[in-house]
Amino acid sequence: MKSEVAESAIEILKQLIAFPTVSAEDNRALIAFAAEYLEAAGARTTITLDPTSTKANLFATLGPEGNGGIVLSGHTDVVPAPDQEWTSDPFLLQERGDALYGRGTCDMKGFIAAVLAMVPYYAELDLARPLHIALTYDEETGCLGARQLVQELKRDGIEPALAIIGEPTEMRVIEGHKGCYEYTTYFQGTDGHGSDPDKGVNSIHYATKFIARLLEIGEDLKGRAGPDSARYSPPWTTVQVGQIHGGIARNVIARDCEVEWEMRPVRVKDGEDVKTALNEYCDTVLLPQMQAVYPDAKIETEVIGEVAGLEVMPENEAREIAVALTGNAETDVVSFGTEAGLFQALDMAVVVCGPGSIRQAHQPDEFLEIDQLEACLSMLTGLGASLTKPART
Ligand SMILES: [Zn+2]
Repeated sequence: MKSEVAESAIEILKQLIAFPTVSAEDNRALIAFAAEYLEAAGARTTITLDPTSTKANLFATLGPEGNGGIVLSGHTDVVPAPDQEWTSDPFLLQERGDALYGRGTCDMKGFIAAVLAMVPYYAELDLARPLHIALTYDEETGCLGARQLVQELKRDGIEPALAIIGEPTEMRVIEGHKGCYEYTTYFQGTDGHGSDPDKGVNSIHYATKFIARLLEIGEDLKGRAGPDSARYSPPWTTVQVGQIHGGIARNVIARDCEVEWEMRPVRVKDGEDVKTALNEYCDTVLLPQMQAVYPDAKIETEVIGEVAGLEVMPENEAREIAVALTGNAETDVVSFGTEAGLFQALDMAVVVCGPGSIRQAHQPDEFLEIDQLEACLSMLTGLGASLTKPART
């Protein structure tokens, strides 16, 4: 037997799934639908567009104005489905057995549907602090929408105190995850005949020195893992080279080389330290050697994406609230990234807690168990009660 609010969440989820909001595609129809729904329930909404004006974020508020509120955050984009074997149309919600099937059911329109289904209830409460709902674009391609949203909150002086990011955690309370920083470093030297390598600047040779230094730094990072790293697997900040492209033939000095690499910092500081150490090595060792032969030689690093981690904090009000509401006293850390670190950078207390399993995310026949949806609705109901002013006697 489903609860009444679950019926309403499923109805909303059906509509959300029907918007094929694949990352990098237009999500404005979904945002317009959610805005209309929220406004009808009495929420104040702001829609902002991305630089191409084809994607949008929605920020809605219920309850009082001002700072110190709580944000319920979800991304509206989903990963594509075309090359996967689906039993049914991924953009048509199907209820089979005790689960709901469709692209985005668990990652993460299920959470959004649960939040929207609670809005009429929240609107009736005498809320003691603002309750915000943040729906963002393009999380799967680097948290682009959330990045824009946090900048706008900062610009507009809106300072919520807490955030719950509803990524699928099976309603476990997640208080930390590593960051994911991705880079491409380009080396440009000068070519020449392979028989006289010292007359040219071989970019591959310099790229290998760069990689050797990166790996050395990676080894150092193992040694400085603190107690806050212990719950991660592996329990330290990692670096990794994924691809190298360079050169044109065995007997030609390689003019160009590019190295695609990444790191997964446990702490923001680790990430900063790796970048500083590499820049110093390039500026004081590699570039002077390259430019001694060829003054126009270059090393340039392009930032592909820097998704900040969520650092475990000794004090975290969002964690306390989520633990109390879910009854899951044991918190955890995870290996996947979310927009949580972006909110944490605004000095907010943040946890990740949402319905469904990350194992179903991005998979064919992605599904959300109805029990998970019910558990999320029960947390959200408790949240409403905890934000309500005590009755005056
Ligand atoms: Zn997600």
